Amino acid sequence: MIVLKYCIIVRDNEKSKKIQEILISKIKHEYNDKTPDYVVAVGGDGTIIKASHKYPNAVIFGIHTGHLGHYANYSVDELDIAIENINNSNFKVQKLDVLAAEFVTNSGNIVNDFALNEVTIVSPLRTLILDVFIDNDFLERYRGTGLCISTPSGSTAYNKSLHGSVIDSRLRTMQLTEMAGINSTAYKSLGSPIVLSYERRIKLDLVEGYEAITDLFITVDHISYSLRDLKSLYIFYNNKTINMAYNKPEEFVNRINRSFLISKE
Ligand code: NAP
Ligand code: MN
Repeated sequence: MIVLKYCIIVRDNEKSKKIQEILISKIKHEYNDKTPDYVVAVGGDGTIIKASHKYPNAVIFGIHTGHLGHYANYSVDELDIAIENINNSNFKVQKLDVLAAEFVTNSGNIVNDFALNEVTIVSPLRTLILDVFIDNDFLERYRGTGLCISTPSGSTAYNKSLHGSVIDSRLRTMQLTEMAGINSTAYKSLGSPIVLSYERRIKLDLVEGYEAITDLFITVDHISYSLRDLKSLYIFYNNKTINMAYNKPEEFVNRINRSFLISKE
């Protein structure tokens, strides 16, 4: 007999912890936070994103107690449905593409991670200078605060605040958006967001002389890396997905309407 294992990740608030108690009393699988098959993430999008990084191979059940819940497929009112789906392993799975990020340093170190929302490279103090390549073709020499590369599901997160486009969940794309790019007669970058095919590969090369800057950050979702001798950053898809469980599919347009256009009580 196959024993299914599950665990729970909760946002640190009363409402989420109450739900955790209910879940523990009603889910019949074995509790195991080392190698769970199912992870129940109770909270907001942040909680679900954290769960996906900690357990990238598990099926994630997102239950939203937060204000947005863009990733969560179950509301608190649907808690019994979620429990029934978990206990009977009776659910559908939405596969969300995640972006692979590979950082290469001058000393030859390579770091790999992935992003459900976005990868950013940011220098808050001094102007960042990056050569941007798409596949192996030179696009531009970018100067500014930073760049954001987002997935379709992440297009409504940081990307949206940067005036990037909201991307239909049926499209497989990556979107490159600037943060305060400098545009003058001396410096020029595209300025607008660019939406690229799933098959493209973005390469960002730090322009020589920039290594001296110490406060350069690379972020993948909520995780940040502070790299002193970064040489290049590669961003691409490699068929890796995060598996989100759902009971009833929610139309993309409804999700956008619910998240951004209906005022909350
Ligand atoms: P956070 O500060 O709690 O996240 C910022 C807000 O974005 C929260 O309201 C969060 O919802 C929401 N959110 C996250 N992913 C979303 C998505 N795919 N679509 C719509 N809204 C989404 O930080 P966090 O919880 O650790 O999340 C990390 C994320 O913060 C990053 O991936 C980045 O997208 C975002 N961020 C945004 C800005 C900005 O907009 N200026 C700056 C830095 C980081 P919940 O409340 O449900 O968690
Ligand atoms: Mn959050």
